Amino acid sequence: MGAIDPVGLAQALIRCPSVTPAEAGALGVLEKALAPLGFSCWRQSFQAPNTAKVENLYARWGEGDGPCFAFAGHADVVPVGDAAGWQQDPFAGEIREDQLCGRGAADMKAAIACFAAAAERFIDKRRSDFPGRIALIITGDEEGPAINGTKPLLAWIKERGERLDACVVGEPTNAATLGDMIKIGRRGSMTGRLTVHGTQGHSAYPHLADNPIHRLIVMLDSISREPLDAGTAHFQPSTLQVTSIDVGNPASNVIPATAHAVFNIRFNDTHSSASLTRWLHERFAAASGHYDLALQVSGEPFLTPPGQLSEIMARAIEQVVGRRPELTTTGGTSDARFIRVYCPVAEFGMVGRTMHKVNELVAIADIARLTEIYERILDGFFAV
Ligand SMILES: [Zn+2]
Repeated sequence: MGAIDPVGLAQALIRCPSVTPAEAGALGVLEKALAPLGFSCWRQSFQAPNTAKVENLYARWGEGDGPCFAFAGHADVVPVGDAAGWQQDPFAGEIREDQLCGRGAADMKAAIACFAAAAERFIDKRRSDFPGRIALIITGDEEGPAINGTKPLLAWIKERGERLDACVVGEPTNAATLGDMIKIGRRGSMTGRLTVHGTQGHSAYPHLADNPIHRLIVMLDSISREPLDAGTAHFQPSTLQVTSIDVGNPASNVIPATAHAVFNIRFNDTHSSASLTRWLHERFAAASGHYDLALQVSGEPFLTPPGQLSEIMARAIEQVVGRRPELTTTGGTSDARFIRVYCPVAEFGMVGRTMHKVNELVAIADIARLTEIYERILDGFFAV
């Protein structure tokens, strides 16, 4: 048994109120746990123009060019939300009825603590015959704009000439119980802001005006009427949801000059943001008339096809919880979208039922089990 107690470390991390983008001491707590094991630690902060500065941590055990297994996660958390709704101080890290409570318990400080403890146990066992490397990529703005965290930190690691061979992201992937699911990919997400221009006029004299609302309705209907696809073996069907229609017209007898709408597309790997952009413009052009379309892509879809990494993970999970996890691509996007460019990546962490909610918590028993799962994943990866 190693010196890192994953419950104690998770508590110490929760006690740092690292609400995005604040570091609040969380990375220091982790660094203090890892350094005595022989990890080299680098703190890197990044600040893109017009954004808040974000601190990140890269920690690596092992020298040389052996295979590198990486764990990626974020030490930042979302705000507490309705403070009165919490039954305890969200940053006290209290244990009640075999559950560790606090903001970030599920998403995802306990998983970080579990991996640190697993790495220590693995290193203790294998120190003498272990040519590989273990890396922790811990960032500080996953819950924010995700500009100054994973993406530049990965680029910095690459610039140093370091290679990653596989990566597990510790997001809370399990819906109800530990072992439910591994995420092997994520859908892409794109938001469109559509402005349709017309000509203002009197509603009794429509021939002297051009009603942008009527065209907006036709345009939105043309993109929402039919399903985008039927899904794939690994992805559910893509979806398009109109999330807002705004005209802001106080007068019932005035045809307004412009009308606005917002929509969000969650798309699988039968599309890309580029192919969807072309498709949107084709549909909108068919309605004729003048429009502006602003598109914001927060992630392309990606898939790590079932293979060596997911099999090592699934086996480790089965050995600990007694059943095979499902391999899925559901849910929102995650920082794995940046990692997949560098190496195979899959996600497995705590039970996510309470993430981003008041009274966020994880079961103490799950912390012990996730630590064992991560240790077995390291055993599996470095078995050969
Ligand atoms: Zn998260």
